[in-house]
Amino acid sequence: MRSVSVFGATGSIGESTFDLLMRQGGPDTYRTVALTGGRNVARLAEQAKALRAEVAVVADDRLLPDLRAALAGTGVVAAAGQNALLEAADRPADWTMSGIVGAAGLGPGFRALSHGGTLALANKESLVTAGPLLMAEARRHGARVLPVDSEHSAVFQALVGEDMAAVETITITASGGAFRDWPLDRLAQATVAEASTHPNWDMGQRITIDSASMFNKALEVIETHEFFGIAPDRIEVLVHPESLVHAVVGFRDGGMIGHLGAPDMRHAIGYALNWPERKTLPVARLDLAAAGRLTFSAPDPVRYPALRLAREVMAAGGLCGAAFNAAKECALDAFIDGRIGFTAMAGVVEEVLSRLSAASALGKAAANLDMVLETDRDARRVAGEIIDATQGN
Ligand code: NDP
Repeated sequence: MRSVSVFGATGSIGESTFDLLMRQGGPDTYRTVALTGGRNVARLAEQAKALRAEVAVVADDRLLPDLRAALAGTGVVAAAGQNALLEAADRPADWTMSGIVGAAGLGPGFRALSHGGTLALANKESLVTAGPLLMAEARRHGARVLPVDSEHSAVFQALVGEDMAAVETITITASGGAFRDWPLDRLAQATVAEASTHPNWDMGQRITIDSASMFNKALEVIETHEFFGIAPDRIEVLVHPESLVHAVVGFRDGGMIGHLGAPDMRHAIGYALNWPERKTLPVARLDLAAAGRLTFSAPDPVRYPALRLAREVMAAGGLCGAAFNAAKECALDAFIDGRIGFTAMAGVVEEVLSRLSAASALGKAAANLDMVLETDRDARRVAGEIIDATQGN
């Protein structure tokens, strides 16, 4: 029986993964080793019971009594806290979903690689902050990393049977987010509720806001560079409001292979779950005649400064990705908490990168995870200072 673990089981990616596991036979097909959540104890306990998980872990250790109570008599072991998350990742599983949001997903993903198997990587922050280390760790343990982000799954599928040496370009698409058609001068007043509504995809709040600012696409450009090892100047982004073409690979003979599908993460998750097989999945089938037309345009650099920052991060390399991601997470928290406006987020991130680059060698390659975590902490501290100063003005 195939063993699985799901990190971030209670989130948007986690729920889609849970849905597919249940549809594919649940506990009759899979031995569920570990399920984890951040704070949503009730949902985590429901999932753990349904899949008969061996252990359920909640990240917030103050919630351990609640989780224990919810799982009493079920045989599922309850655990809590950061160490418990890492210990859950140490338990061997054939397939692990890395679906925690943010840099918090880095540690468990790394530890899961140590027993080989497959890491289905939704947590793009792992590649942005520590791509070379993560891929080296996977090679060291004979583990496989499969992309789950829809664009990267699309590229991965377009590359089946192809030689990377024949690839000229990789284009990933972006819907343009909630404010694609807003007048530029209104963006500074955009509210959290407005930024949390995605035109096409149903996702967690943080990634939805990151789609409106294009920070999500910025992370994905870096993710493309790290995962496929392609030079930054051969990665392109196109705004594609219909969100039906997820990525296009251009080859040296002039041919292009694109990947189309309904905007439903269960396709990419299901592909990673069943790879190399394709199984029947509960996603809508595209009706291209009904779609009528597919439109593409170059992103506006003024509306989406995050894309320029991603290029600067790739040019600097090394620890710059860790600083970029941490600064972005702080700026996003500050926006969600009402401390800064929507357009101020990019300014905070740019200022953090500029101050840290002046103070240290951000371009230095990360020799280990501790260096990544130290840069993450530095960037959060500097971002906090900048945000406080912004509020004071
Ligand atoms: P959600 O916010 O919906 O879910 C995040 C999950 O992580 C939840 O289970 C949450 O727990 C848990 N969590 C939050 N903070 C912590 C923490 N500090 N420690 C441990 N666990 C924590 O996020 P998404 O599912 O949207 O995104 C997950 C990852 O997948 C992100 O990296 C995102 O970029 C990526 N991704 C998401 C897509 C999507 O469609 N949603 C598409 C492509 C990539 P709880 O809810 O219990 O508090």
